[in-house]
Amino acid sequence: MKVTGDENKFTKEIKKKEGFKASRYNIISEDGIGNLLLVNTFAGSFTKFGFSMNGEVRNILKRPDEYSKLGGLFTELVTRGYIINSNVDEFRKAELLHQNTLSINSGLELILMPNEDCNFRCKYCYESFAKNFMTESVQQGIIKFLERNIHRYSSLHVSWFGGEPLTAIPIIERLSKKMIEICKEKRVPYSSSMTTNGYNLTLDVFEKMLECRVRKYQITLDGIECTHDKQRVQVDGKGSFKRILENLLNIKENINSKTFHIMIRSNITKNILDNIDEFINFLKDNFEDDYRFSSFWQAAGDWGGDSVREIEETFCSSKDYIQSLKDASKLGIKFNMYRDMMKPGGSVCYASKRNSYVIGSDGIIYKCTVAFDLDENQVGVLTENGVMQLDYDKYALWVSGHESSDLSCQKCYFRPSCQGASCPLERLKNNIAPCPDVKRSIKDYMKIISESEYSYEYIES
Ligand code: SF4
Ligand code: SF4
Repeated sequence: MKVTGDENKFTKEIKKKEGFKASRYNIISEDGIGNLLLVNTFAGSFTKFGFSMNGEVRNILKRPDEYSKLGGLFTELVTRGYIINSNVDEFRKAELLHQNTLSINSGLELILMPNEDCNFRCKYCYESFAKNFMTESVQQGIIKFLERNIHRYSSLHVSWFGGEPLTAIPIIERLSKKMIEICKEKRVPYSSSMTTNGYNLTLDVFEKMLECRVRKYQITLDGIECTHDKQRVQVDGKGSFKRILENLLNIKENINSKTFHIMIRSNITKNILDNIDEFINFLKDNFEDDYRFSSFWQAAGDWGGDSVREIEETFCSSKDYIQSLKDASKLGIKFNMYRDMMKPGGSVCYASKRNSYVIGSDGIIYKCTVAFDLDENQVGVLTENGVMQLDYDKYALWVSGHESSDLSCQKCYFRPSCQGASCPLERLKNNIAPCPDVKRSIKDYMKIISESEYSYEYIES
């Protein structure tokens, strides 16, 4: 293109719009003592400004052009994406982000079920336990698929899921060894995580899993012993709290590695809320002093299955425990996950991503890890020869649509984090994209996160 220096339609347009504006993806809140909390869901920034700067930050966000020559705080806001050039089309940028998040050219995420049976029978569990160990031919299929295809992806992340994955340790070890070898040979970064009930995660097993590069864990503790043992029962009906806690404390005290993280998930019911202060003190006494452990609370719900009928009258909503979350975070309990959910793509469910596949023990390929019996969720099959035979009609139900077919999503300040894809299963059932809980109470969650010094930047005058 010839550059003449003459004014044309394009340069005139830019000139007309030059200047600054506040990003439409800013969210403003305050903590209890007047510090200003600012999040930008596109840039992924979270900043706490000391209370003496509260008014000035608000003024700059309202009238950025008046402050643009002053540098200082104005520059800090620009650097973190809160103030942008007025000619930036943020809708277009959000659309590009969405395309990249779901892109076929990014990393591959495999959710593997080495055993679909479980040693627990939790009251809210939706699984049918009709199948068990992953067959030899499916294991072969996974390895052959990766040998042929891994070069097309920028990374491989394997999540071990079940049933209970730690009832199938030899399968995890065998597959991990091969997958790590393949990735090493093709120079593709490999990482791994696990959702486990924690019952079999003894020190010895934890060390084996570290060898398998499993570094991130989600383990459930549903309150203190009396409530946990009602919800998370073993197959023989016995409780499981003591053993899981013993495993967690052994890991905390004996493993020096700084490279793992355990998120303690709690499925909150009214029963847990009846003892919530005790549970908060329990979390504080045992895990508050170790940054390798964090917590995540979610209201227990009807995720399918019959046994849920026994506890459905105890269901509550997140509004019922938001104050307890604040109390817990004030005592130093870390809720990192809520912070992650506010980052770009942080509330997008893996089921909506093109490169994310759940592989069942019998080779059936799913998208969602909840509705295994739903026909639309059985999107294909992995053959022994490593070929993924996908039904693209079903597959498209999960990976297309989202924010692009929903006008309220396009205008939403939480769009970069959620992208209308926080739960494609719910969208499929109800024909509307559900807003994630963290967005519905965003200002409260910002306060909760602002209690943890690991989660934000602090700027004071
Ligand atoms: S589903 Fe809700 S939170 Fe998500 S982008 Fe749409 S409107 Fe925003
Ligand atoms: S689609 Fe919904 S139910 Fe399924 S895994 Fe994603 S968030 Fe969970």
